[in-house]
Amino acid sequence: MKYKEFELILSSFKCNKNCPYCTAKITKWPMVDDKLEEFEKKLQYLKEKGINFRYFIFCGNGEPSLHDFDTINKIVTATKNVNIFEEKRFQSSGNIFFEKDKLNLIKDDFTVEITRVDFDSSKDMQILGYNEDYINSPLFYQANVRLNYVLMKHKSFEDYLAEIKKYIDTYPNIKTVSLKTLNLNTLNGKIDNPYSQWIIQNALTKDDAKKVIDFMSKNADVVHQDNEFFDRIEWNYKGVPITFYIKKLSYGISNIVCYGGELVDYHLNKLDI
Ligand code: SF4
Repeated sequence: MKYKEFELILSSFKCNKNCPYCTAKITKWPMVDDKLEEFEKKLQYLKEKGINFRYFIFCGNGEPSLHDFDTINKIVTATKNVNIFEEKRFQSSGNIFFEKDKLNLIKDDFTVEITRVDFDSSKDMQILGYNEDYINSPLFYQANVRLNYVLMKHKSFEDYLAEIKKYIDTYPNIKTVSLKTLNLNTLNGKIDNPYSQWIIQNALTKDDAKKVIDFMSKNADVVHQDNEFFDRIEWNYKGVPITFYIKKLSYGISNIVCYGGELVDYHLNKLDI
């Protein structure tokens, strides 16, 4: 059976950015021993159960490329040994584009996923709290990149499309754009922290999904609309796929997380698979 995502989330909480919507800071998952020795065994277990995934994502909590080379190598090797994934992604703050050896380790096998709120790097750096302009690092062009384009409230839909066009014209290695609404709190849904408040004031959330779909469908060709399980729409805009996840599903049905060597959902409940 095909599932949607397998996310490996480690527990470093170290990052060179300070995003005002940081999911790691909203959800405050406990620090755990990552038990990486369990990771490949868990993949093998899922393979024996006949489960495979559309995506593998190496993501937070914290910036994955700040882990040492050996740790990243162990993860990359495990996903090669037990390859139950159609596509592999490495989510990065952008720091990977200053880490040549680590980028070389992943770039042929993984898409690097970046998240931005503005095309203008000085604005992006100011809003997301970082100080090195990774998108203009020479290493940036060596990777296949997926851009998570955060839909901000102060821009119009026309602004979004104009900005996306600038990205794909300027950086041909951006192979996919994913329109991103922000999650208020995937752990318990509570707006009890400044990060969720920032999201409400500044960004679109899953409640805006219909507006996004209606606008995009008027301005680009729908090429793919997945069934409920994958909850994804894809358009073609100037030759580049633009995807949008509707996020109707609760996590844990289609998204499996490996945290602390256990298979869990986004509420940290152990999954009985
Ligand atoms: S890059 Fe990720 S972990 Fe780092 S501050 Fe931003 S959201 Fe948080």
